[in-house]
Amino acid sequence: MKGKVTKKKVKELRKQIVRKPQLVWDCLGLKDKQEVFRFANRYKSFLDVAKTEREAVRAIEDFAKKKGFKDITKAATGNKFYKVAKNKNIALAVLGKKALSSGVKLVVSHLDAPRLDLKQNPLYEEVDLAFLKTHYYGGIKKYQWLTRPLAIHGTVFNKDGKAFDIQVGEAQDDPVFTIADLLPHLARKVQADKKVSDAFEGEKLNILVGSLPIGDEETKERFKLAVLEYLFSTYGFIEEDLMSAEIEIVPAGGARDVGWDRGLIGAYGQDDRVCAYASLEAMAEVTAQGKTSITLFTDKEEIGSDGSTGAKSRFLEDFVADLYEITGQEASAKTLRACLLNSKALSGDVNAALDPDYQDVHEKRNAAKIGYGVCITKFGGSGGKYGSSDANAEYLSEIRRIFNKGKVIWQTGELGKVDEGGGGTIAKFLAVHGMEVVDCGTPILSMHSPFEIAGKGDIYMTYKAYKTFLNSK
Ligand code: MN
Ligand code: MN
Repeated sequence: MKGKVTKKKVKELRKQIVRKPQLVWDCLGLKDKQEVFRFANRYKSFLDVAKTEREAVRAIEDFAKKKGFKDITKAATGNKFYKVAKNKNIALAVLGKKALSSGVKLVVSHLDAPRLDLKQNPLYEEVDLAFLKTHYYGGIKKYQWLTRPLAIHGTVFNKDGKAFDIQVGEAQDDPVFTIADLLPHLARKVQADKKVSDAFEGEKLNILVGSLPIGDEETKERFKLAVLEYLFSTYGFIEEDLMSAEIEIVPAGGARDVGWDRGLIGAYGQDDRVCAYASLEAMAEVTAQGKTSITLFTDKEEIGSDGSTGAKSRFLEDFVADLYEITGQEASAKTLRACLLNSKALSGDVNAALDPDYQDVHEKRNAAKIGYGVCITKFGGSGGKYGSSDANAEYLSEIRRIFNKGKVIWQTGELGKVDEGGGGTIAKFLAVHGMEVVDCGTPILSMHSPFEIAGKGDIYMTYKAYKTFLNSK
């Protein structure tokens, strides 16, 4: 630019060429803000009934049924279908007018969250108290699980193979469970002088479950026996039933508003149920004029997506094959491949929000911030993008245009600064089909903790992003 540049010119120029991050709250009118808070209330209700992957699948199925989706395995008709697999996966589809082989629009999230699982021989007694042994699931900071009320959620099969769901610790008058921690007075050598990673041991994450004895003083293991007697008289369970059970220990209590202004939500399991719920509500508003839309909810993400219910399994292919069949379109290995290859996906997963107290682990110019909308994450991985599917410019450009046109407030985010650490999502297990995929989800503070924090404006923009994407051409 030649000659003297006036203040006005610079201002105009700035407006034209500099990207100004948008705070969601600055962009919404009163009515929109009210809708953001209403959405947040519905989301909190979902969190409270979906604290495990099994419970989440049931809640999603209930929601889908209410919105007119039909079980595809039951000779259903119409254009809205769902399918449940192994009680831990669910997929929803809204059929579009275009052929399946032209690809689908896909939003994928995961329903599992870090927690403590019971071991197969969990019950024992020590110093006249009864405990359950656990093996933690996913990436946790162990000390965060100590000295807090915990709830037990799970599925137990009796000796005849009949399933029972148990849930204790959520109702107001339920007892809760807990893990004791050492008093500070005696913690100097065994905890305070150690590295945090050494100070808290996985084998000490034992759940206190009983303190009353059974029988006379001569009886052996009176405290363990008392717990077994309670389980037997209450549920009909015997000790061997625990060996085949899936019992998860999660923080007790419901989702809460955080802050005087109630602008944030604090709850267990928002990674990744925030994206799951946002995609669920978005799916209910899909018109599917063009391509078919699918939302897929997976399991086992927090332990690497392995297993028959993880994103590495073939559930997506099976569901797409079902759609071919129900629409009478010619299904072959080739057309199925074409569908997946031509598909476009958002991997709905959370990213770390810039932590105000630990800003140094982030690279501020590229970290997501609470309040600035849904976060697009081009790449994850660690040690030089290693293990990341790294979305391409073509697709990012397309997503950016879709979001801008739909007035979605969005930002980009990187999981920590270079070589600080890192992490992965299911994006790469979708990319393996050749489809376009990028991570897109809500920024979270205290991720993987028993009380994760998300901004209501960002949660709403996540929903709006998915809805806009699924309804785009
Ligand atoms: Mn996640
Ligand atoms: Mn996670």
